[in-house]
Amino acid sequence: MKILVTGGAGFVGSHLCRYLLQRGYEVVCLDNFFTGKNMNIIDLKKNIKFKVILHDITEPIEIEEHFDRIYNLACPASPIAYQFDSIETIKANTLGVINVLEFARLNGARVLQASTSEIYGDPLEHPQKETYRGNVNTLGPRACYDEGKRVAETLFMDYHRKYNLPVRIVRIFNTYGPSMDKNDGRVISNFIMQALNNEAITIYGKGNQTRSFCYVSDLVEGLYKMMESENVGPINLGNPGEFTMFELAKKIIKLTNSRSRLEYKELPKDDPKQRKPDITLAKTLLKWQPKIHLDEGLKKTADYFKWLLKSNTS
Ligand code: NAD
Ligand code: UDP
Repeated sequence: MKILVTGGAGFVGSHLCRYLLQRGYEVVCLDNFFTGKNMNIIDLKKNIKFKVILHDITEPIEIEEHFDRIYNLACPASPIAYQFDSIETIKANTLGVINVLEFARLNGARVLQASTSEIYGDPLEHPQKETYRGNVNTLGPRACYDEGKRVAETLFMDYHRKYNLPVRIVRIFNTYGPSMDKNDGRVISNFIMQALNNEAITIYGKGNQTRSFCYVSDLVEGLYKMMESENVGPINLGNPGEFTMFELAKKIIKLTNSRSRLEYKELPKDDPKQRKPDITLAKTLLKWQPKIHLDEGLKKTADYFKWLLKSNTS
């Protein structure tokens, strides 16, 4: 079976490519390297079943090979990256998604969309079930991503209804682990890097907003299970353990034996106050649930960032 992973050089995509290769599949990674990195996939390039294509999904995809499965992950995920050029972010989720869906149609391939908990916006229902329709500000700085991902889900369902295309939609909650970009501005990479450098830990707002963090190997297993299941979705994939950013900072300071102090900064606009997946559907339909506790995942991630610092790698 041949599998295309768009965004395969990114954080989640590179772990997914590695997982699929380990299972013996042929894998093609298609990426424009906006946030993706050669370093994430350098080990995979030694595998003859792996290939990289430099391409932007906002341009039509014309690969003369047949694919059975397509995972669409091509979209920057950190607030800094997706707000860097908000129009490009919307394009990836609209024009780009249409190009991916058209290519899937041409191949008769099953296609999975990496959607996000951001489609719930600043949620008024807690924890969030797949039936919740969300509370998103269409005009705010996060809208290019949140609304883009909402349109992408709509396009997936329209291609499913109109062309009977076998689609899968997963809503991913905050995911972390090795290969995260240390400068991507996300909370776990920021806090760990600050703690390792004994710099002030930047808590936005009062630090009482919550997030639920899923370790990347758990997520990748969930993506694969969903792809190979008979469910269209949407299905939430995330770890229901819920922590405030204050608790997270304390955990990371303790884990790294850091001398960092806490520094409170302004809360970014439209920052969701709480986030926790209801994963009943994933448990029931996919027999999936995360295995890695936050403490264990943070240790593995901190070890990766320590290695980055030691080897002076960016
Ligand atoms: P990432 O930024 O590390 O990876 C995204 C990859 O897509 C990068 O390799 C980037 O170069 C590539 N890309 C971006 N725009 C592209 C385009 N137009 N054409 C081709 N390639 C393009 O992000 P990630 O954390 O690995 O996220 C992967 C996917 O999962 C994204 O779609 C994201 O929205 C979704 N997701 C991630 C999280 C998370 O916490 N990491 C949460 C929810 C959803
Ligand atoms: N955050 C923080 N300090 C940082 C970076 C982020 O307090 O240095 C907060 C941010 O305001 C948000 C939470 O951590 O409430 C998660 O932010 P992230 O960007 O990782 O993900 P998202 O907001 O997209 O869930």
